[in-house]
Amino acid sequence: MSMDGRTCVVTGSARGIGRGIAERLGEEGANVVINYRTSEGDAHEAVEAVEDAGGRAITAEADVTDREQVERMREVCHEAFGPVDVLVNNAGITADTQFVEMSRAEWDRVIDVNLGGMFNCSQTFYDDIWESDEGRLINISSVVGKQGNFGQANYAAAKSGMFGFTRSIALELARSGSTANVVAPGYTRTDMIETVPDKVLDRIVSGVPLERLAEVEDVAAVVTFLSGRESSYITGEIIDVNGGMDL
Ligand code: NDP
Repeated sequence: MSMDGRTCVVTGSARGIGRGIAERLGEEGANVVINYRTSEGDAHEAVEAVEDAGGRAITAEADVTDREQVERMREVCHEAFGPVDVLVNNAGITADTQFVEMSRAEWDRVIDVNLGGMFNCSQTFYDDIWESDEGRLINISSVVGKQGNFGQANYAAAKSGMFGFTRSIALELARSGSTANVVAPGYTRTDMIETVPDKVLDRIVSGVPLERLAEVEDVAAVVTFLSGRESSYITGEIIDVNGGMDL
């Protein structure tokens, strides 16, 4: 299996896209750290799912905005599996509202989780990724980071911020042979879009050449490829998984 023995931390992986990534990495034989903030029950189910799929897994509670909690998560990973080879910064939130009505708190919260969390986790696991034989840093952005979106100025700013960060870190990591890339999914069927009215989803799908939303498996397959050794000459890239929305 392509991920045999490689240790992967996936933030926010008790549910949604992160869970899909964790299970797919498990299928490829990885050791997976299931990070959660509130979804403890789902995190334990995710561990079982990864183990059923053929991998090994543990849970690690940490709010990615809290550096001390992230550092404790690193200790938990090291005790269970040793140094980390792959970090997937997946944890993310939205707080949608038109810009004129957006509070500074709504701005800060979205920036803090999506970008601040990425900063905390990337810096905490940086030495592991540097020292790994083929370390991988993978940041989950969004099509909204490229296109912008009505009512999502905070989220779009955070998600496009990931592009510049990743390209810079790719340059810094390159001397170690490790890579950093972004995966930018289109609208994906998870809790995050549950509150989006059907009428709006229909309009979104009508703008997708492949005429459907993404499933978590679509995103997980690409992240798993980037996590493995076969992707060793791809770095600083933004890989779209959006059904052709840019065409
Ligand atoms: P969900 O809302 O389904 O899940 C969000 C996940 O993020 C949960 O596992 C949650 O953990 C975790 N999380 C949130 N805040 C924190 C925090 N402070 N610390 C640790 N974990 C946290 O979202 P999706 O699965 O849909 O999204 C996953 C990623 O993909 C996000 O970055 C999102 O922006 C991105 N994305 C999603 C798209 C979509 O259409 N769904 C499209 C493009 C990108 P817990 O439950 O434990 O609190």
